[in-house]
Amino acid sequence: MRVAVVGTGYVGLVAGAGFAEFGNDVVCADTDADRIASLLRGEVPFFEPGLPELLSRNAREARLTFTAEVSEAAGKSDVVFLAVGTPAMADGGADTTQVESAAAAVGRGARGPLVVAVKSTVPVGTCDRVAAILARAAPAGEFAVASNPEFLKEGDAVNDFLKPERIVIGTAHARARQVLRDLYTPFMRLGDRFVWMDARSAELCKYACNAMLATRVSFMNELALLCERVGADVEQVRQGMARDARIGARFLFPGAGMGGSCLPKDLRALSAIGREAGLPLRIVEAASLVNQRQKALLFERILGHFGGDLRGRSVAVWGLAFKPRTDDVREAPAIDLIEQLLAAGARVRAHDPAAHEAARRVLGTRIEFAATAYAAAEGADALALLTEWPEFRRPDFSRLRAAMRTPALFDGRNVWDAQTVRALGFSYYGIGRPAAS
Ligand code: NAD
Repeated sequence: MRVAVVGTGYVGLVAGAGFAEFGNDVVCADTDADRIASLLRGEVPFFEPGLPELLSRNAREARLTFTAEVSEAAGKSDVVFLAVGTPAMADGGADTTQVESAAAAVGRGARGPLVVAVKSTVPVGTCDRVAAILARAAPAGEFAVASNPEFLKEGDAVNDFLKPERIVIGTAHARARQVLRDLYTPFMRLGDRFVWMDARSAELCKYACNAMLATRVSFMNELALLCERVGADVEQVRQGMARDARIGARFLFPGAGMGGSCLPKDLRALSAIGREAGLPLRIVEAASLVNQRQKALLFERILGHFGGDLRGRSVAVWGLAFKPRTDDVREAPAIDLIEQLLAAGARVRAHDPAAHEAARRVLGTRIEFAATAYAAAEGADALALLTEWPEFRRPDFSRLRAAMRTPALFDGRNVWDAQTVRALGFSYYGIGRPAAS
């Protein structure tokens, strides 16, 4: 099948490479000409395990090409996926400008019947608007619009895309159903994973999934604060909860706050959808508020440890990405913490196995980037762990103790054993764990 994917970000590029991997003829289009030029040179614009191999194999075998001409790409395709960004507006609602201008370009370029699938996470009703934009751009065109939200996780995106848990498709068009069924069936060797619905339900389903996951995390973060007040250990509470099959173990980890390009943004966007519908979504709003509070927690702990004055203090930060196995720093708690530390007069030296380049685009030269984790900790008064990369989980604490000027650990992911590190002479602060007795 001839497939065009519009938008070559984390979603579009993985989807394009994934469709090509199954033998389709794919063109990935993006209005960012620099990005397209670097993709044509064989460079991958971000860190995602397995993606470079997938891209290069399919480009080499001429199943995957790149272009800055969105209309032209649409003109040569049977199905077009819109995978452009939907960032938050000032009021929290999703900005669909990129989707709308991509749809107009697709409409202008269409040369025959076209299925247009919206993969971006979009407010309810966007598919109807996309259909109207396409019809305006090409009044004689034959378009079948579908919502096809994406559920891949950064860090495991290739695997998620090639072996999907489910493929949600929302459309009223038989042709869209047929084309998307043909395209995705090879991804489902183990059995049918389609979930068919109407477009509005599919659009809302994506927000509902992310809001549910985010609510679990915020619930645990709030419970962690309660544990501190009442002398319980949230890690023990969590393990007891996780054994309940109705609850399950995933997305129950308290920490220094949620980041990434999806969960916090989608919570805010769902709140906005509720407000516009005249139904304030109290649980969703609370999950957002709890997350904002959580993102200030580690800073308050560090400030408190140093008696309210961080001027001249040096703080090491381990982890910049919002989670391991990605270089994505969008809304990452590490970036929030660093901004707070800098504003309070501290110096920051950070290390992340993948995210230096992405973080440098946000922080510039305001912090130092260290080549190794131990180099970041050299001479530091405090060390904050923000991303639970495997290599940070079992460091050589004696070496760390010797490297640091003041041995204070702020474990934003609860990965270190409090007793062990306290026995080595560190002050230890976790999230929702008992203070030293
Ligand atoms: P991104 O910001 O990484 O990439 C968006 C790309 O679209 C950019 O390369 C940009 O240049 C391009 N673009 C913008 N306007 C365009 C236009 N008019 N025509 C062509 N290209 C254009 O975004 P992303 O993280 O890949 O997310 C894309 C969408 O998928 C969002 O709605 C997001 O919420 C959703 N989503 C993201 C993830 C994730 O893990 N990142 C997972 C599921 C869903």
